[in-house]
Order: sequence, then structure tokens, then C-alpha cells
Amino acid sequence: MQPKERVAELRQLLNDYSYHYHVLDEPIVSDAVYDSLFQELKQLEAAHPDLVSQDSPTQRVGGQLSGGFQKVEHRTRMLSLNDVFDRSEVEAWVQRMDKQLPGSTHEFFADIKMDGLACALIYQDGVLQQAVTRGDSFVGEDVTANVRTIKSVPLILRKEDGFEHFAVGRTEVRGEIVMLKKDFEALNRQQAAAGKSAFANPRNLAAGTIRQLDPQLVAARPLTFRAYDLLRDDASEIPTNSYAYEALTAIGIARNQQARTFSSLDQVMAFVDEWDARRHDLPFNTDGLVIKVNDRALYRQLGVIGKQPRAAVAYKYAAEQATTVVKDIVISIGRTGAATPVAVFDPVVVAGTTVQHASLHNADEIERLDVRVGDTVVIFKAGDIIPQVESVVNELRPKDAEQFDFVAALERQYPELRFERPAGEAVYRVKGASGPLLLKKAVEHFASKAALDIDTLGEKNVAALVDAGLVADMADIYVLTKEQVVSLDRFADISAAKLVSAVQAKKTPPLERFIYGLGIRHVGVQTAIDLAKQFESLDALAHATIDQLLAVDGVGTVVAESIAAWFVDDDNVQLMAKFKSLGVEPVYRRAEGKLSGMNFVITGTLEKLSRDEAAEAVRTRGGTFQTSVAKDTTYLVAGGKVGESKLKKAEAYGTKIIDEAAFLRLIEVA
Ligand code: NAD
Repeated sequence: MQPKERVAELRQLLNDYSYHYHVLDEPIVSDAVYDSLFQELKQLEAAHPDLVSQDSPTQRVGGQLSGGFQKVEHRTRMLSLNDVFDRSEVEAWVQRMDKQLPGSTHEFFADIKMDGLACALIYQDGVLQQAVTRGDSFVGEDVTANVRTIKSVPLILRKEDGFEHFAVGRTEVRGEIVMLKKDFEALNRQQAAAGKSAFANPRNLAAGTIRQLDPQLVAARPLTFRAYDLLRDDASEIPTNSYAYEALTAIGIARNQQARTFSSLDQVMAFVDEWDARRHDLPFNTDGLVIKVNDRALYRQLGVIGKQPRAAVAYKYAAEQATTVVKDIVISIGRTGAATPVAVFDPVVVAGTTVQHASLHNADEIERLDVRVGDTVVIFKAGDIIPQVESVVNELRPKDAEQFDFVAALERQYPELRFERPAGEAVYRVKGASGPLLLKKAVEHFASKAALDIDTLGEKNVAALVDAGLVADMADIYVLTKEQVVSLDRFADISAAKLVSAVQAKKTPPLERFIYGLGIRHVGVQTAIDLAKQFESLDALAHATIDQLLAVDGVGTVVAESIAAWFVDDDNVQLMAKFKSLGVEPVYRRAEGKLSGMNFVITGTLEKLSRDEAAEAVRTRGGTFQTSVAKDTTYLVAGGKVGESKLKKAEAYGTKIIDEAAFLRLIEVA
């Protein structure tokens, strides 16, 4: 999709979400989903500044005014905050400030970010005069009658030594109106007892309550006010944010006791980590911290950019939901022959880890979600739990996105296999394949000559080991003991010992042989070699994206999908972990030799060597064996006459054409 269309769609959708959240107090998606789409819009706008428009949610502070209340203009704008999600973004924020004001000192002030609604309290000569919501940041609504019912909002300011002057003239206190978790739960218990439906979340209940026209009803809902800012006409009366907090307590206004001053970014990050672990113990909901420059003169000097102050950020903790776009739906064939669809998407951070794919379980689940390639989806992941596709954001579906046809995809990806869906089951399986049969084949293939080359593990021995239950996956061969093996009829002392030691000798096999041995569909010897060369480690291959795989010589869509599908299959993920825990570590050795840097293609039949032998000879000497003439082909070895088209290609690329005798001299066989 073109960035222009995507920006327009995101903008419209986010504005709609915002309306439900800010005006109706009934959000239709979680904050995490809103934030994730908002970040995508922000990034797109940063990359295409011409696409920024005034009605973009990135340019405006959330709430439209709902009517019913007197409008009040704020003397100083009530801004929103820029979100940051990790240390590097905090560092980038500090760098931006340094660029703006070089040489200024860094003292930070950080507080818990409360999840409620912002409100300004205006005191005249120490008496509460007005309470105003944030509104659109310029103009808010007069909710004084309602706010007066909140017990933690004093109607008169305290006069403490050294702070008496706050009770003279105009004092503006800004803070958050929240509903404490315990109050919210108690209220919901009351609702349940009265047979009424439960409230969705404390933030929206608090916001909805404050905008009630009947103060009696507000008084019946327990709300709490906690301040985070203090303003005076003469700004110099409040030199720092830490002083503002001190003064708030002195004049009798509650604020978070957890707020601290820090002299370095390291200290700030330690505070971030501390509250990441403890935030659930707080009496109210929070999604992060607010980090500010402590010195208020500097804060003002740094100014405002768009709708946010330059001198403060909101640090958001890892959310358990995020949105991303589905690039592909691939199907993996598991150990038992079960076909499992897997969604592959743009990498996205969920609950602190990067996620690139998620199992879609089976055809029914795909149908239920109606997930399609190109869809924007909500991914859910909590802690160590496996990521799941939770839902599809239908509004962002590309017009040409086709419903996923599971059977057609199976046929396209595995044309050589037949599948069946046993009655009453949700899963498609390879027809006629039983678990043990597939397992035997897999182990045999793993041990075969072109793979790990363990000659004691031929068909009959493998069958005996599997049937006896000693081998349940490829990795199990490494756990076999001589005692176990000798207990089988087929083996005597010597042959059992031989088998075990032959397996143990293959704990650090060449990477390309190991990759081939895994038996990934469509990955033959040559592809395995090319993959090893490109990725140089099993981990890198396992995490490769379809695009990275497609960049490998000779890898097309079918092969790339097959590889991606194999590595995301749960059984295979466990198998890889098992190999690792058993100390089986394939190694990549860059072949060096007299043919290093040279690429060979063979056409026709050679007399002295088979094709495979010729390929092997090239590889062991450091050269590369290619399947067809390309720009970088050094030699075309002609076994017989070279066809016209190949000849033309070779000439165009400056590839040298040599006969078998010349080839044998090159590899020093002749
Ligand atoms: P913001 O994230 O930009 O934060 C700014 C606000 O944080 C301030 O106005 C203040 O009220 C508050 N705050 C709380 N504790 C503070 C402290 N200690 N110090 C300073 N400020 C503190 O908030 P925003 O502009 O109100 O809107 C964005 C938020 O609204 C996001 O979290 C977003 O997820 C949510 N949202 C959700 C939906 C939805 O559909 N779910 C829609 C729109 C917006």
C-alpha cells in the first residue's frame, strides 16, 4: 500500500478511536493498540513530512469538548507528552535537547505516570475557584461543581511556613483525576450485587464521571486527585520541578511520593526498571513514567514542538499488545505430518521481545480470525507466553487482500504431498503418513551420507531404535547409550559401541550438512550450502525473514516459505533447543582453497566425474557450484556441446568456457 493511503487510513481510524476514548469515554480498542498504530503513523509522517496534516492525531491533543459545560481558556496550554519506549529513545531525547541548548546541565525529575484524566485547579487567594479539564489543550471545560466533590481536592490551601505566598494571588495546580484500583473494584462489586454490568476500566470511568452533569452522582463515585504541576504568575517562584512537588505537599495537595530527582540518565533508567517491576503494586493504573528536565527555566527555554514540550517525555512500559502487518501465511509440516499455518509479519516488539511470526493453529482458526496477507493484526504476548494473533484491524485491510485459501496454499507449498483432514479434526495431515514412519525417514535422512554421514544409522537400525522407543526425534540419537543400544536384538557389544561413538563424533557437523539433514522441504544439498554461506549460523538462518531468504542465490518463494515455515514450527523450535542443550553445534567453515572466489557451472555430462562429485571437488577447494550461468560465473564447464543460449549468456557475462580436461587440471585430478 502507498504511504499516502496508509497515512490517511491510520489518521481516520485513530481519530475515530480518539472520539470513542475522549468524548464518549468508551474506548473500542486498548491503549496499546492505539499507541502502536499511532507510532506507525508518526514514523510514516517522519519519513514523508509532506503527508502531515493539521487533523492528524500526531498534531492535536486528544479530547474534543463534549458540551454541557462552560468553556474555559487555559492561561498556559495543557500539553500532551511524546512517548519513548526504551533507553535508546531516552538518549535520543537528551541529544535533541543538547542540540537545542548546548552545554546545559542534566538534572532530571521523574514521576509515575498516572492513567486518569488531566485537570487544572485554579486557586485565587488560597480558595478553589475553578476546575478545568484539559480539553483540546487550549480550551477545557469547567467541571468545578464535580471536582469539589473529590475529597483529595482541598477547597482552601494550607499555609505553611515559607509557602504562605501560594495562598496569595493565583495558584494553578495541575494533576490527574484517577479512580484507585480498590475503589474501582468495590464499585464493580456493588454493580454486580445490583445486577448491573461491570465498568470497563478505571480511567474511562473517572473521565465519564467527571463529565456527569449531576454532582450528586459524581459524589457517589470515589475519585482521587494527585497533582504533578504547580504554576504561578511569576514563574521564578518555582525554580525546579522538585521544588514544585515540595510546595504541593506544603499547601496541602496530594502528589506521588515516588517522584525523584536524578543527576544522570543511568539513574533515571534504574528508576524506570524499578517501577517496571513494582508498578502493579501501585494503588492506581499506570503505563509508564514521566521524565522531565528539573530546572524550570531550562524547561521553558526548550519550548514546545507540535503538541509536546521538548523538555519532557512519557516512558511507556512494554505493552502486551502491538500491531503489525502480515507479510505471509506459510504452512509448516510438523513431526506427525500435521500442517500448521503460521503468520509471518513485520518484526514488532510485544511485551519486550521482538516477534516475527505466530502460529495460526489450523484452518478453522484462520477462518475465525479471517486473517489475510496484508492485514494489520493485533499481536498479543504476555511474559513468556507464545505470541498469538488476537484480531484483525478490519478498517486497515487492503482492498485487494484475498481470503486465505488453506487448501490452495497447501497445494502450492507442497505440490508433491497429499493431505487429508480426518473427520472431527481441525488439522490437515499428510495422507498416509504416520508419526513413526515420518520419524524414521527424518532420522535416516539426518544420518544419510550427504547430511551428517553416520553410516551406522541406516534404515534397519533407525527402524529398530524408533520402534524400541529409544529415538523420538532427531536429537535423541545423541542421547543413546551403549547399554540401551545393546539391549536391542540387532546389536552386540561392539556394534552398539560403534554406533554410539559414530554419533558422538558428529556433534559439530558442518553447517551446510546439518541444514540439509534437517529435511526442510525443497532444501537440497546445494540450497543448504548457499544458505550456510549466506547466514553462517543456524540461529541466523532460523531468524531470517522471507525477504532475507529470497536474497539467497536460487531461493524462490516456495523455498523461502518452506524454510520460514520449518523454523517457526513449535516442534522444530523445541528440536533446535534440544540440539543446543545436548551440545550439538553445527559449525560454519568458510572453505578456503585454490578455487576460492570462483563460481562454476557444469553443462552436459562429464565422463570422469558425476555431477555431484564435480560439485564436491569445487566446494572442497573453496569454489562455489552454481546451477545456472549468472553474472558472477567464472567457468562454464562444458560436458559436450554447449547450447546456444548458454553460450550467449556466458559470452555476455565474460564467463570462460572450458572442457572437462581443463576442468580436471584445475581441480588437479588430471
Ligand atoms: P499522554 O500519554 O500524552 O500523556 C500526557 C498526560 O499524562 C498529561 O496530560 C497528564 O494528564 C498525564 N500525566 C499523568 N501522570 C503525570 C505525571 N506524573 N506528570 C505529568 N503528566 C502526567 O496522554 P494523552 O495526550 O492524554 O493521550 C494519549 C493517551 O490516550 C495514550 O495513552 C493513548 O493510549 C490514550 N488513547 C487511547 C485511545 C483508545 O482508543 N484506547 C484513544 C486515544 C488515546
